[in-house]
Amino acid sequence: MPELPEVRAHAERMTEALGGDVLEAVVPLSFTVLKTFRPPIDAAVGQPLVAVRTRGKHLLLDFGATTHVVHLMQGGRLRPDPKEAKRPRNGHLRWRFAEGGAWLLTEAGTEQKAGVWAVEGDPEGQEPLDHLGPEADTVDVAAMTEILASHSARIHTLLRDQRVLAGLGRMLANEVCHRARLSPFAQTKALGEGEAAALVTAIHDAVEDALAAERARDDMSPSAERPSRVHNRMGQPCPECGDEVRAVEYRAYTVSYCPTCQTDGKVLADNTTSKFLK
Ligand SMILES: [Zn+2]
Repeated sequence: MPELPEVRAHAERMTEALGGDVLEAVVPLSFTVLKTFRPPIDAAVGQPLVAVRTRGKHLLLDFGATTHVVHLMQGGRLRPDPKEAKRPRNGHLRWRFAEGGAWLLTEAGTEQKAGVWAVEGDPEGQEPLDHLGPEADTVDVAAMTEILASHSARIHTLLRDQRVLAGLGRMLANEVCHRARLSPFAQTKALGEGEAAALVTAIHDAVEDALAAERARDDMSPSAERPSRVHNRMGQPCPECGDEVRAVEYRAYTVSYCPTCQTDGKVLADNTTSKFLK
């Protein structure tokens, strides 16, 4: 899934390509894509696109009075669509601009979960952004210390919880734990100000590095091409210490870690009942 750096770099590309361009038409192509009825999605027609911003993993197409909030979910992509096919494969919604032509939201895979919300006024505090925590890379040490103390969860789970911190997903949760030298299974309540400081630095650095890699590309990267230290690197040497990167597999995601850097050398069994995970 695209996470904060991929979405933010894509918003920058879209603003570069379409900023100031007038929306000529907006055409829903699937039954599932529109999540709101009021204001109507075409209320923005005739308005210039001020900019594309982000909030968490969402793209925000700012048309002034109204904003189109786009969630790409797992396989969604929003790209130029010069062909404008009548029934584009996996097509969800098309925006057509006066100068920049058409852009199409598509979604690969069978799960049709990508969505578009039309929102009036400031989108912050409105669905679907109303449940989001602060942008993950803006949280300071004091706020992170408070977050750790007020939640009871494994740190890897907490980092992916959009209500707590917005923008991190499976990949960055792995990368942040590794950079902070914390076990992904550490209980948040056991972590104090020192660990909070390590997490703040790790989040900042991981986001900056990913953003730099993503800004060097013409289009959003597939997850296999994103630079990582432990994510998707099971069996490979840890770039910090050379130990073998390990993984614990879950149905929907994989926790990757380096035993030497993160778990005092302990190899965690590949199931949730292991005593080391407690
Ligand atoms: Zn290591």
